[in-house]
Amino acid sequence: MKKIDITELAIILETPKEIVISTHVNPDGDALGSSLAMFNYLSKKGHKVNVIVPNNYPDFLSWLPGSNNIIILKNQLDKCNKLIRNADIIFSLDYNSLDRVKKIKDEIINSNAIKVLIDHHPNPEMDQFNFVYSTTNTSSASELVYEVICKLGDKKLIDIKIAECIYTGIITDTGSFSYLCNNENTYLIAGNLIKLGVDGENIHRLVYDDFSANRLKLLGYCLSEKLKVIDEYSTAFIYLSAADLKKFNYQVGDTEDVVNYPLSMKNIKMSALFTEKENVVRISFRSKGDFHVNEIAKEHFEGGGHKNAAGGDSYLSLEDTISKFEKLLPLYKKELSR
Ligand code: MN
Repeated sequence: MKKIDITELAIILETPKEIVISTHVNPDGDALGSSLAMFNYLSKKGHKVNVIVPNNYPDFLSWLPGSNNIIILKNQLDKCNKLIRNADIIFSLDYNSLDRVKKIKDEIINSNAIKVLIDHHPNPEMDQFNFVYSTTNTSSASELVYEVICKLGDKKLIDIKIAECIYTGIITDTGSFSYLCNNENTYLIAGNLIKLGVDGENIHRLVYDDFSANRLKLLGYCLSEKLKVIDEYSTAFIYLSAADLKKFNYQVGDTEDVVNYPLSMKNIKMSALFTEKENVVRISFRSKGDFHVNEIAKEHFEGGGHKNAAGGDSYLSLEDTISKFEKLLPLYKKELSR
C-alpha cells in the first residue's frame, strides 16, 4: 500500500473531501473524544464528515460536541457501507487493526480511500493504512489527534468544541490523570486545552457524576457480593451474570470503571471483570505496574489492548470462563508475585 507523509496528508486536506471517521467497538471516552475532535476539526475545514461507531455509547458521553452526527453501525450497516465506498479518506481512531471493526473491515480494505490510522495501542497493522500516526507511550488517541492537527499546521483551528473532545479523551483514558500519563506532554496539552476555555471541573462532573441509582447500587453489589480475591496470585475479579445486569436495569456504560476498583487493594496487581452478555462473556482486564494484561487478553481471550488495560471475549459459559481464567493464573505466578 502506498504510504503518504504528513505533508502529503496536509495537501490532500486542502480541498473538500468526503471523509469517514471510524472507531472501535464499545466506544469509550477516548474513542468518541478522538473521533469527535477530528469530526469538528475536519468539518471546520469544509469537509463532509461522517462518524461511524460500531455500537451504542454510554449516555455520559452524549454531551460531547458533534455527538448528534454519530451513526451507529449496528443500526445502519447499509448506509455505513455506502459512506465507506464513497469516501476519499477514512480515519481509524483509537484502534490498531481493522479486525476491531469486524463488520466494516472488508468494505474498508476494498475501498480506494486513503486510510489514516491515529492510535496509541501496541502493534498497529501498518499494512492496512497509508498513513500511520501511532505511539504506545501516549495517554490517548485524543492526545495524538491534538498533535496531528498541530502537525498539519492547524493549531489555530483548535477551538473549544475540539478542545472539550480531546480533554474528555485524555481524562477517560488516564482515569483522571492516574495512569498512562507519566508524560510531560499530556499535561502541557491539557494545560493548553484549559487555556482555550475548557472547564475541566465541569467535564469531570459530566463524565463521573452521572450515575443513576441503579448504577451505584450495581457497583455496591459488585464489591460486596461478586468480588473474588486470590491473594496467592495478587489477583481479584468481579463477575456479573445476565441476571445480575437485569436486576439492576443495566444500561450501556453502567459497568464502566468497575474493573478498576479491585486494583485499589494494596497487594492486587491484576483485576478482571467478567460480564455475561448475549452469546458472549466480555472480559476487561486492568493491572498495576509491569504486568501485561494485553498478553493474557490476546493469548487466551481473543482480545488485546494496552499493558495496563485490555479486553477480550469468551464464548464459554460464565462459569467456564472464570475457571479457565483461574487455571491460567499459575502460568503468570512469577510476574504476579514480583
Ligand atoms: Mn484510547
